[in-house]
Amino acid sequence: MSATKRLTVAIPAKGRLQVGSIGLLEAAGFQPETYSERNLSVRCSGAPVDALLVRAADIPEYVQDGAVDCGITGADLVLERDADVVEMLRLGFGSCSLQAAVPEESAITALEELDGHHVATVFPRLTRRLLAERNVFVHICEVSGSVEIAPRIGLADGIVDLVSSGGTLRTNGLRSLGTLIESEAVLVASKGTAGALNGLVTALRSVVDARTSRYLMFNLPADALDRVVEILPTPGSPSVVPLRSSEHVAVHALVPAAEVWELLPKLQSLGASAILVNPVERVLS
Ligand code: AMP
Repeated sequence: MSATKRLTVAIPAKGRLQVGSIGLLEAAGFQPETYSERNLSVRCSGAPVDALLVRAADIPEYVQDGAVDCGITGADLVLERDADVVEMLRLGFGSCSLQAAVPEESAITALEELDGHHVATVFPRLTRRLLAERNVFVHICEVSGSVEIAPRIGLADGIVDLVSSGGTLRTNGLRSLGTLIESEAVLVASKGTAGALNGLVTALRSVVDARTSRYLMFNLPADALDRVVEILPTPGSPSVVPLRSSEHVAVHALVPAAEVWELLPKLQSLGASAILVNPVERVLS
């Protein structure tokens, strides 16, 4: 990041991605100074960065047109707008999938059987493209919200919509036919500015990686070290620290958070004791 030029990052002003976007900037050291929903442009303390609060759906175009240097929005929105931007980083929040669904009682049981039918969606371009890639050609009914109601009121035979838990589909008597794409929040930049964002990308990546990591510390009989090192899912080599009692060592290792629950009983059975599982603030590899 240059010391003179301020960077402008567009982030969602409201909606599902807003809290995660502000939380990520804060965790990376870019604290929005006077954040409120009425303030559309906010200076971040600690770095020459300004956050511009706009609609998530508009961010791909703002970035593409160079109105901002980069932006945080849903990968699904970038694809739907077919924006000419560079995806710099997947951000690990706002996860969802674009799924096709039909009413429980529908005779349609597979995605391919949607061919020739009417499908309601707020993602007309993406739906048409992703289904056509599977040789499924549908009549699109473009709506701007409440997609789930479309089959019940006879507007469409099925829908294509974003799903996270699947609860909304079930509540509305819909059955999923499968996933078209997975999505999550992403940092995107225009082709011209991508190179100037190294500092920002490194800072955000360090937080994203830290959130999926844990720092493990434990004591171990020295003669169990080789077997423990074999099962540790650690990138690189763990630190091994001598203890006062020469029969024991302390092991420190960075491990994927998702694997900790499986690892702990294995470590215990190999003689590990005083096991500490610590959160990590930043990881730079
Ligand atoms: P908003 O409409 O402003 O609440 O934001 C919509 C964006 O949030 C979508 O484009 C997705 O990237 C993301 N998202 C995450 N989970 C869901 C979900 N269950 N339904 C809709 N959007 C979701």
